[in-house]
Amino acid sequence: MKNDIIFNLLDVHQRIENACRISGRNPEEVQLLLATKTVPAEKIKIAIEAGETLMGENKMQELRDKDFELKNLPVERHFIGHLQTNKVKDVLKYVSCIQSLDHLNLADELHKQLQNQNRKLDVFVQLNTSYEESKFGLPPEDVLSFIKKIKTYETLNIKGLMTIGLLDVEKEKMIPSLRLLKTIRDEIYTEGIDGLSNLKLSMGMSQDLELAIAEGSNMVRVGTSIFGNRFLGKEIWNENISE
Ligand SMILES: *Cc1c(COP(=O)(O)O)cnc(C)c1O
Repeated sequence: MKNDIIFNLLDVHQRIENACRISGRNPEEVQLLLATKTVPAEKIKIAIEAGETLMGENKMQELRDKDFELKNLPVERHFIGHLQTNKVKDVLKYVSCIQSLDHLNLADELHKQLQNQNRKLDVFVQLNTSYEESKFGLPPEDVLSFIKKIKTYETLNIKGLMTIGLLDVEKEKMIPSLRLLKTIRDEIYTEGIDGLSNLKLSMGMSQDLELAIAEGSNMVRVGTSIFGNRFLGKEIWNENISE
């Protein structure tokens, strides 16, 4: 098991490097985040011991269950799943970044809790760039007004934009939802909103990381290619199960 994970990690880093080389990008511009839903802490530990520093969980329950084994390790925990406002307080105990900020109620609740705790939090705004109904994320049309609004919350550090690209067997169908994230970032830059000049793009997963890097990704979130398939009993994990 340990060797598998280490081998897979080398392979994923190689894929990232190749994709960067092909698109003339510096590999240091692209971070790897371990997508660890359903992965037990002992496996995550192997990846951290191999030098990985970023992980993302989708569920409050899993953050809690793995906390004891992970909390003292040198890893930054992000939240990358759909987050309901009633879970905010709990999730904040474990993470330093929420990548799935996609509605104002959630921003309000985060702001309130963070004010109480007198702390700040990194956030990514999640956009539904594939326009799939099954997906969470803010509609791209709403991004400017949303960002202008949450910019006024001094507790939220806007680090970038996040999307889950459309997955398909045809590459040509997968590119537009990735490309759109970068287009939206450029539109935000054009608006010249104060303090928003270095927004990261979090996009790319096991199946589309090369495409995402070609489209400008700064953070790929990879699970399956590192830890193997996620089977829960007979059912494959549903990415869009809500908390
Ligand atoms: C599961 C998940 C990933 C990783 O997906 P893989 O296909 O296993 O690499 C990335 N981002 C989010 C938000 C996820 O839920």
